[in-house]
Amino acid sequence: MRKRVFSGARPTGRQHIGNYLGAIQNYVSLQDEYDCIYCIVDIHALTTLQGRNDVSTLQDNIREMALDWLAAGIDPERSAIFVQSHVPQVMELHTLLSMTTPLNWLMRVPTFKEKIKMQPQNVNYGLLGYPVLMTADIILYKAEVVPVGEDQLAHLELAREIVRRFNFLYGNIFPEPQAKLTLVPLILGLDGAQKMSKQLNNEIELAATPEETTRRIMTAYTDPARKYRSDPGHPEKCNVLSLHRAFHSAKLEEIESECRSAAIGCVECKKLLAQEINEALAPLRDRRNELASRPRYVKEVLEDGANRVRVIARDTIRETREHMGLA
Ligand code: SF4
Repeated sequence: MRKRVFSGARPTGRQHIGNYLGAIQNYVSLQDEYDCIYCIVDIHALTTLQGRNDVSTLQDNIREMALDWLAAGIDPERSAIFVQSHVPQVMELHTLLSMTTPLNWLMRVPTFKEKIKMQPQNVNYGLLGYPVLMTADIILYKAEVVPVGEDQLAHLELAREIVRRFNFLYGNIFPEPQAKLTLVPLILGLDGAQKMSKQLNNEIELAATPEETTRRIMTAYTDPARKYRSDPGHPEKCNVLSLHRAFHSAKLEEIESECRSAAIGCVECKKLLAQEINEALAPLRDRRNELASRPRYVKEVLEDGANRVRVIARDTIRETREHMGLA
């Protein structure tokens, strides 16, 4: 029997090439080996959103994100794709787990401390309880494998501790989820300095038109030593070259050596990159347009995904209630 994978991501709307290279491509390939459950975690998003204005784009963001996932090759016949709040049992399990999770485990989580600094005006319980909800997300479906980047290993270890403590107190109900370490390439944004991110406005959207993609790439920072076209460059310091590499440019070595000898200029180099990215993403973009033209398609996929995993969730909750003396 195939092992079950769970992964969740916040509804950030249209995905960018950093999301694609870092996570979505991996989601697609995991489908060959595992039973995959991919969740758009809208409840987690509420820890940082506040008020009706903030949540007004939530439904659009969910749809746009799901469209990108589907267009990239996540297959709803093989994987369950759904929205976290559509399976309300996760909130019940979160509450039950919160009764066995020591408060000091949560208070020492570094990301909680970071969030306090980032949003001092909104230090809500959800920020503190985030690891408990994350654990509920995984074990509600008895997932055994969770794909994580190195930076998320500590969170998964905490989830495993929460599971161990629960199992110790109430009996062996849940498998301890194992990390499947994913070598996530760090994709810098167009500023060449920080991770690609919508918030930093340094991203290239998967769904951008070829013209938008080219226009965005032409704004990318390059090697600051190349003030003039005749200045030799240092491609190892230039994010444009990293993007050529990420998209498996057939001309990578040529570009590197021509940059060093100033045989190629940055404008030409960027135009080449735009062409490579546009060619690589053309099938995804065509498919996205086709899926977007079917008005109910995404909604139906998400409903179907939720219906499928809800069956597992109901069984898990029944078993948990029994073990906790609630039934
Ligand atoms: Fe970067 Fe290309 Fe310019 Fe070299 S030629 S500095 S790799 S953009």
